[in-house]
Amino acid sequence: MIDGFGRKIDYLRISVTDRCNFRCHYCMPEKQSFLPHADLLDYSEIASLANRFIAHGIRKIRLTGGEPLVRRDIDVLIKELGRHVHAGRLDELTLTTNGSRLRQFSEILADSGVRRINVSIDSLDPDIFRNITRGGDLAQVLEGVSAAKASGLHIKINMVALKGQNQTDLLPMAEYCAANSFDLSIIETMPLGNAVEDRQNAYIAINDFIAPIRANFQLQPLTDRSAGPARYWHVAPLGLRLGLITPMSHNFCDDCNRLRLTTDGKIFMCLGSEMHVDFRKAIREEGMDAVDRMLQKALRLKPERHDFERQMAQPEMRLVRHMNTTGG
Ligand code: SAM
Ligand code: SF4
Repeated sequence: MIDGFGRKIDYLRISVTDRCNFRCHYCMPEKQSFLPHADLLDYSEIASLANRFIAHGIRKIRLTGGEPLVRRDIDVLIKELGRHVHAGRLDELTLTTNGSRLRQFSEILADSGVRRINVSIDSLDPDIFRNITRGGDLAQVLEGVSAAKASGLHIKINMVALKGQNQTDLLPMAEYCAANSFDLSIIETMPLGNAVEDRQNAYIAINDFIAPIRANFQLQPLTDRSAGPARYWHVAPLGLRLGLITPMSHNFCDDCNRLRLTTDGKIFMCLGSEMHVDFRKAIREEGMDAVDRMLQKALRLKPERHDFERQMAQPEMRLVRHMNTTGG
């Protein structure tokens, strides 16, 4: 699949639910309304769309949300998609999770062909963690991470850079990750949803955020890339692989290879744009020829690049979508 700008598209992110048991304040407001269940694609609809997209060239699928592991019977979908990994039709099935339900799911993930997962932890201080997530239990998350490690899953910790909130947690986090052989990715906040003013206050450029690491360790650039927007560094002598994701201060659009399927069947072609193509009617009523036509349309309409800088500067340009709708 090639888009209108000649980019090869082989990565699909599927948001399996917009719901979550946390309320991270940069992601969604405390009182968030969620989609009615009738609007959600059921697992057979998601699996049929995924099959078709795989047939057209998708090689990697990431499940996200909301919190993917809170959707009821999510193991049914994980096992179904895992069949493609076992059959060699998918290079990778992975997920991004807040870790709170990993203890129950890590074995199922490993058995289903999942090899790597991303777990979002913004602080190793239980109080700061509870504050950022509005109620999350750090001990439960760390227990889940340990279970995932014991199941043989390779783990990357995602940490959002929040000015004045979690910078002092950076060195402990780097040491925790190095000691456990986890990768660490630092993410700049993006202006999604309707809490932009808060987020402007929380925004800190990555280079400023990682100053404590630079002050204590040497950073050597690594040339390898995953199928994502991170740039990687080796932190000596910790032996840590550090990813820096800089959507605001550095544009990662030139080699964007992804599409995002929302839980109600829309394909968003860019995290920073409201433009989408709705597949729900096609998959529910019209059949695979319609799905193929919609997919061609989505590829044609994929924007060249996001415009987060302008959205951050001009609140009236803000995207009303929250991150939990399209998935991280
Ligand atoms: N609930 C799962 C989790 O937290 O990992 C998966 C969904 S969450 C939306 C995916 C990722 O997006 C998380 O790492 C989260 O920290 C990040 N995220 C959410 N809102 C963000 C924002 N406004 N800017 C940058 N990253 C954000
Ligand atoms: Fe939930 Fe993930 Fe959003 Fe936090 S970042 S509220 S865990 S979906």
